[in-house]
Amino acid sequence: MRRSRFFLPTLRDNPKEAEIVSHRLMLRSGMVRQASAGIYSWLPMGLRVLKNIERIVREEQDRAGNQEVLMPTIQSADLWVQSGRYDDYGPEMLRIKDRHERDMLYGPTNEELITDIFAGAVRSYRELPQKLYHIQWKFRDEVRPRFGVMRGREFLMKDAYSFDLDYESARRAYQVQFVTYLRTFARMGLRAIPMEADTGPIGGDLSHEFIILAETGESEVFCDRTFLDYDLLGREIDFADAEAVGAIVEDFTRLYARTDEKHDQAAFEDSVPEARRYQGRGIEVGHIFYFGTKYSKPLGARVATAEGGEAEVHMGSYGIGVSRLAGAIIEASHDEAGIVWPEAVAPFRVGLINLKAGDAECDAACEAAYGKLAAAGVETLYDDTEERAGAKFAEMDLIGLPWQLILGPRGLKNGLVELKRRASGEREELSLESALARLTTG
Ligand code: ATP
Ligand code: MG
Repeated sequence: MRRSRFFLPTLRDNPKEAEIVSHRLMLRSGMVRQASAGIYSWLPMGLRVLKNIERIVREEQDRAGNQEVLMPTIQSADLWVQSGRYDDYGPEMLRIKDRHERDMLYGPTNEELITDIFAGAVRSYRELPQKLYHIQWKFRDEVRPRFGVMRGREFLMKDAYSFDLDYESARRAYQVQFVTYLRTFARMGLRAIPMEADTGPIGGDLSHEFIILAETGESEVFCDRTFLDYDLLGREIDFADAEAVGAIVEDFTRLYARTDEKHDQAAFEDSVPEARRYQGRGIEVGHIFYFGTKYSKPLGARVATAEGGEAEVHMGSYGIGVSRLAGAIIEASHDEAGIVWPEAVAPFRVGLINLKAGDAECDAACEAAYGKLAAAGVETLYDDTEERAGAKFAEMDLIGLPWQLILGPRGLKNGLVELKRRASGEREELSLESALARLTTG
């Protein structure tokens, strides 16, 4: 993409309404634009990031054997009346009437609808287990929408649902999602810590919030620092191997990690040596939850059992805040100059800077480099504008692409270009060929 053609409305100054760094940087780097309170339009730069996050979430859900569906954003109130949540949900639910005066709503989540879909299709224990997910916009009329896309009213969520014959099998489904979440967030360059969360009336230990440590987070958290060193991506995980999956979950749940709702100071001090105690704030990026027959009972999701009887299915639901992650990743990865995108979610891999647009030799070298990067499938934003060098550098740092390839007449005279890594700030002079070789591999 040529910068001169790219729709990228960047801001030089910090917008007043933005209280936290990710919100400021998303506005300044032209990723999103507020449409109304807690509701955003995603501009090209932001949408590229959102799609990358979504792709990773989808790949990992598919890898774990979940099947993708797509349910609507607008739902009829009927199922919610049946489950008892139509009244319970309160003012967070956006309620709508259609032209026939029927009660509709903009879905804040999808347990009711997916349970109804399941109940209408599955009759026998032989068809279990089932695991379905979708990635769809949700609406919650939050009291205080703030922090940009982190607490929006309209937001993109991945929600998965599992259906099993009994508790043991539901527990396995839960564990597979647990490990899938660890992988998903690690691929985005994030360290998301699974913390014990409230299970409500169901009880048990099958509810975890996945939390990224960040000062601007809305949850207060307490955990063992050992979490800060784990590396999961090196391991090959066979999701069909229940024991191996269970062992990883065991590994992670042994360590103390709780949000303030579940925190117990005495237990924390007993189980974690002082030097390893972390107390701070965090951002919830995912939540997994086993809730037994809470929805299958009122919505009639039953299957025939092997013994000739009938049983209500055991369910779990598994959410990831896809749009919140765009902000959360920035909270976890930025510096004074701007965003520092992890490679896996970066909107482009390379920013190519032409230091003297209009200079025939410089233009030709840049065009050649741009062509070669495109041919190798490396996504590149080519700054072909006539801005001054300082402004170009500042903008590239602000938008945070992992690599900057800088071409200017002085270097080119000696056959040299400059390659800068955004994360470390490291700069290196080398030949264009070596630079391209570096950027087109790995
Ligand atoms: P929170 O405590 O932050 O309100 P929640 O418990 O209401 O979250 P869930 O219902 O479990 O959230 O939703 C699943 C995921 O969706 C959350 O882990 C979070 O990442 C994301 N999410 C929830 N509410 C919002 C929101 N208002 N804006 C953006 N993302 C959200
Ligand atoms: Mg909430």
